[in-house]
Amino acid sequence: MTSTPTRSARQLAHVTLGSTLVASSTRHIRVEEATKTYATRLEPAGLLALKPITLDIDAGTFVSIVGPSGCGKSTFMRMVAGLTPISGGRIEIDGTEVREPRNDVGVVFQSPVLLPWKTALENVILPARFAKKNLAEAREQAREYFDLVGLSGFESAYPRELSGGMQQRVGIVRALLNHPKLLLMDEPFGALDAMSREKMNLELLRIWAATSCTVLFITHSIPEAVLLADRVLVMSGRPGEIVDDVEVTLPRPRSLEQINTAEFGRYTYSLRQHFKSEGLD
Ligand code: ADP
Ligand code: MG
Repeated sequence: MTSTPTRSARQLAHVTLGSTLVASSTRHIRVEEATKTYATRLEPAGLLALKPITLDIDAGTFVSIVGPSGCGKSTFMRMVAGLTPISGGRIEIDGTEVREPRNDVGVVFQSPVLLPWKTALENVILPARFAKKNLAEAREQAREYFDLVGLSGFESAYPRELSGGMQQRVGIVRALLNHPKLLLMDEPFGALDAMSREKMNLELLRIWAATSCTVLFITHSIPEAVLLADRVLVMSGRPGEIVDDVEVTLPRPRSLEQINTAEFGRYTYSLRQHFKSEGLD
């Protein structure tokens, strides 16, 4: 199942080589021997959170990351986001070393952290306000993204008037506002009930198809990882390292019915083998 990488057409940039049309993919993220050791009070030598991680991610790919709690998934994502400094190695986005947060990278966390006294729209344009950007333009763009995530009509609602799923969509709009080429999502639907979560999974696939950005999606759920991704990276317990890299070739567009197919079951079964003893939570 992992052997022959097959990539969907949206990931392929076609280049003409002589008279032959050759498909080649564009690398978006390169991670070379990236490690993380946290300085902590309890461990004078430092706490090794991540063993050296090396991987390449092609532009437009949807990559899920699964691994047990505390294995360093969030650390890895924050390193790619430029929010946590790396202790060794190198991370590049579009050929440039990541040293700080970038404008072309959007981040969505488990909790959207919305200001309760501001409307959904005002929450979304807050970063634009801080960055002293043109607010009329930001509002205009935000309205388009409210539409894209199925929230049009709720721009002037306050967070308390929105369900958990709707609040998370507001967080997604905020991340999309800069038209990111890379969307980093850290267990974004972890706090939602099962039905809202499934609905959000399908919504996310629709948004991804519409924006064609690269997505790095962290989850505790193996079925969620498989349903969404082109590729599932499996991390070991702390200190985390990538122990498997599975290409998911289920046809797209994906649907919830696929969860009941034998092929889907083969992916989830094989991924679960990594967590037989410890479980995922
Ligand atoms: P995950 O997201 O997979 O649950 P994290 O990346 O949050 O894992 O954490 C990985 C390890 O690093 C854990 O042991 C955690 O306690 C530790 N850790 C995370 N952040 C810090 C920090 N700021 N300072 C010290 N240790 C940290
Ligand atoms: Mg985490």
